[in-house]
Amino acid sequence: MPLVTLEGVGKSFGDNRVLADVDLSVEAGEVVIIIGPSGSGKSTLCRCVNRLETIDEGRILFEGRPLPTESRELARMRSRVGMVFQSFNLFAHKTVLENVTLGPVKVLGHNRLQARARAQELLERVGIADKADRLPRQLSGGQQQRAAIARALAMDPVLMLFDEPTSALDPEMISEVLDVMRSLATSGMTMIVVTHEMGFARSAADRVAFMADGRILEIAPPESFFAAPRTERARDFLARVL
Ligand code: ADP
Ligand code: MG
Repeated sequence: MPLVTLEGVGKSFGDNRVLADVDLSVEAGEVVIIIGPSGSGKSTLCRCVNRLETIDEGRILFEGRPLPTESRELARMRSRVGMVFQSFNLFAHKTVLENVTLGPVKVLGHNRLQARARAQELLERVGIADKADRLPRQLSGGQQQRAAIARALAMDPVLMLFDEPTSALDPEMISEVLDVMRSLATSGMTMIVVTHEMGFARSAADRVAFMADGRILEIAPPESFFAAPRTERARDFLARVL
């Protein structure tokens, strides 16, 4: 059973049809990387997966069941889906360690001491163990984004959604974040990643989905997609970004 399935998903904002006939299945352990021009619906697709946006057509299944609508069930489902955005969204007045322990303590009811120990482990895993007691503003953008990843991982997610996690970073910090994501991918995490980093897509994706005008025009393993995109739109896009 796929972890996430989108079937015939459609979504409009007013007259603007931003998702149309989207079919996508993501297997447990799979890394699906979504690329495509700005405005093609990539962020909206991600947001629909954990019901930050509702859909108008089709259905989305998570672990074989339709996304919950009841608020407590929805909160439980969302707690199992980590989301990392372009802006780091850390709590500005809490230390890095507090940012990482907050969810496990408040949402999952974990014991504070255990949550701190686990947070420290995760900070080590993303390479910022020495920043545990700093405030977010005392970290570089790359370090903040790695803290945001650690915070998401602290909830023990079964799925991680990344929406352009490196787009707000200075170029020299992009690779440190991509390296963390690559190691997460290698560890077997199920991931949906929106990115403009084609090198990363090529090396980390199990499949690359190319979106344009709210549709997935192509979905294929990176080797075949990058070697021979089938649509004119994808060829144009790649010619501009590569
Ligand atoms: P992408 O992430 O590929 O750049 P988005 O999913 O952000 O694309 O946006 C797709 C389209 O939906 C765009 O035309 C955008 O303006 C529109 N859109 C996104 N979010 C909203 C919203 N909350 N209200 C109205 N229009 C929106
Ligand atoms: Mg976007």
